[in-house]
Amino acid sequence: MLQANDIHFCIRNMPIVDQASVSLAPGELTVILGPNGAGKSTLFKILSGEIPCKYGNVAYNGSPITGFSPKNLALVRAVMPQHSYLSFPFKALEVVELGLLSGGNSFRQDLVEEVMTETHTWHLKDKLYGNLSGGEKQRVQLARVLTQIWDKKPFPRYLLLDEPTSSMDIALQHHVLKIIHKIKKRNIGVLAILHDLNLAANYADKVILLKKGRILYQGAVKDVMTATNLEKIFEHPIQVFSGSEDSPIIIQSIPFIQNHLETKLA
Ligand code: ADP
Ligand code: MG
Repeated sequence: MLQANDIHFCIRNMPIVDQASVSLAPGELTVILGPNGAGKSTLFKILSGEIPCKYGNVAYNGSPITGFSPKNLALVRAVMPQHSYLSFPFKALEVVELGLLSGGNSFRQDLVEEVMTETHTWHLKDKLYGNLSGGEKQRVQLARVLTQIWDKKPFPRYLLLDEPTSSMDIALQHHVLKIIHKIKKRNIGVLAILHDLNLAANYADKVILLKKGRILYQGAVKDVMTATNLEKIFEHPIQVFSGSEDSPIIIQSIPFIQNHLETKLA
């Protein structure tokens, strides 16, 4: 379990994350949703260990994050940040190979090729990372973190993804969520910040709705992703059509041009 209790994070006395408690179970996809500036990335950075947690505590598999060396933390969790900058002219292949180093693996061409094939990045391997499109960069970064945790281990691990599909086309977004569905079965808990409500509703096991630094709702998709909760979080009218075994959940934001909206907003 990745467990965080009562996390507070302030900048100049302004709470950015306020009393957040989260538990991430191996084998599950937990999605964080919330408007721009809600504090999603800040909470994510505290959970990953990028920002030290001054108030509250974070523990991986029952051990406080403060007791992990960077090397041991990299064995238990892999992190794809919202923005990744590289100061060296690495090729895409070399970026993915960094995942092998972090995961404590010896050189494994077969593993890298398997993950790059799965993420549709093998054909990009000799291209300079800096020259790739936004969506290609995201796929290469995803390949890097998957490489870090691809091989099974006898303890639960965690994959943390901050907006991993934000620059991808629709088909690739679904492809990535399918990969996540597959990887979580290797005793891995996945935490993803997403903006697409439909992706979240149809692939997540648990959802966390964050607004102004506070978790307002968290739990199973059907309990949390209601029109009322989502309208409150995003301050925009939203419709939810609940799915069945054969049909997906469909969530629509309602455009302002619709006449009936005037009544709804009145
Ligand atoms: P989200 O990922 O939900 O869009 P962030 O966690 O990135 O939001 O940011 C939450 C809020 O905290 C924003 O208003 C952002 O401007 C502010 N913030 C985050 N990091 C800093 C920082 N280092 N200095 C000042 N303000 C920050
Ligand atoms: Mg963010």
